[in-house]
Amino acid sequence: MASRSDGDETYLDWAASTPMRPAALDAMVRAAQDGYGNPTGAHHRARIGRRIVDDAREQVADAVGARPAEVVFCGSGTEADNLAVFGAHAARGGQVACSAVEHHAVLHPVEHLGGTVLRVDAAGGLDLDHLRSIADDALTIVSVMLANNESGVVQRLEPIREILDEHAPNALLHTDAVQAFPWLDVAKLARPADLISLSGHKFGGPKGVGVLVVRSDAEIRAQILGGGQEFELRSGTHNVAGIAAFGVAADLMVQERAAVVERVGALRDRLVAGIKQAVPDAVESARDPLPGSDAPLPDVEKVAGSAHLCFPGIESEALLFMLERVGIYASAASSCASGAQDPSHVLAAMGYPRELAAGSLRMSLGFGTTDADIDRALAIIPDCVQQLRAAAA
Ligand code: PLP
Repeated sequence: MASRSDGDETYLDWAASTPMRPAALDAMVRAAQDGYGNPTGAHHRARIGRRIVDDAREQVADAVGARPAEVVFCGSGTEADNLAVFGAHAARGGQVACSAVEHHAVLHPVEHLGGTVLRVDAAGGLDLDHLRSIADDALTIVSVMLANNESGVVQRLEPIREILDEHAPNALLHTDAVQAFPWLDVAKLARPADLISLSGHKFGGPKGVGVLVVRSDAEIRAQILGGGQEFELRSGTHNVAGIAAFGVAADLMVQERAAVVERVGALRDRLVAGIKQAVPDAVESARDPLPGSDAPLPDVEKVAGSAHLCFPGIESEALLFMLERVGIYASAASSCASGAQDPSHVLAAMGYPRELAAGSLRMSLGFGTTDADIDRALAIIPDCVQQLRAAAA
């Protein structure tokens, strides 16, 4: 097996976090130097900070097809998701629901409120009949992510909106677009949503800055009270430097997205095809039928950076350990605070048996992934899988 020569690093965990774009980093440093006045203040230095925040707000609004007054900066994608679910429930009461494959930042708030967790099919698509069966006047918020952080599966929102318009007129539609934004035209695809979450560190921006887009006719209630910043929806002094970087990175992503998708999508296809050729029983989520089933899967789109495979008969933890030793960084399920590798709730919801889900590998590519990264991954990963299998035999 290839060994790690100093500095050889293959980063395949872009869905967990990305390096900052140099232009975003520059903007961050400049904003920290010049925009140190509190943006809510009245003097010249405060106005500089406010202008930086306002400029970023416009960049984000353009990037997602919203009005500047609909862009609410907050402290993370997690906070944006929590604000959407708890904020909508606080304002409207009633019943809440989300898909079974949501990030925990949505799933846990919905479970906390005793909401309905909606089934998905074997390709990760929402079970629209299940939604229809619970859609009534009491339903006040439904949250369905635009692209999944493990499988990369893209969910169309129009059919969901149609069901809500027909059967649940009081329901807001929230979409977590955190993983979608680097790859998809969120301005277009999230148009049916009333609330949209983004996170800076998934597209070359900073960690610790999120956005919730709140359409002007969507009523939600603040979850953090204080000075009334962000249109009274999120108190707390602005992270001016982080917000500046978020705006620059969002703008860059939109400008470069089509080219990145084309280039990285081809790299992803080569990676998946190469691994499947070397390990023919590998199961690609949302593409390959589950072992023992010959039912074809519904046709779904995946974001261009997502390569998600399960290897029967191995444990992800052992594989990730081997890969880390040679400087290949990937993950099993989504990363979480504890770092514990519980079997993925996403794969479980898609019907994966526990043994198969236990051998999952999420390789996520991003705007900086190169041909050489894929060459190296292909030279090493199948070899590691074979070694683990030989050791277990
Ligand atoms: N939603 C999705 C789909 C994610 O992938 C993540 C991060 O992994 C989050 C929300 C949380 O974002 P943040 O890391 O900014 O809290």
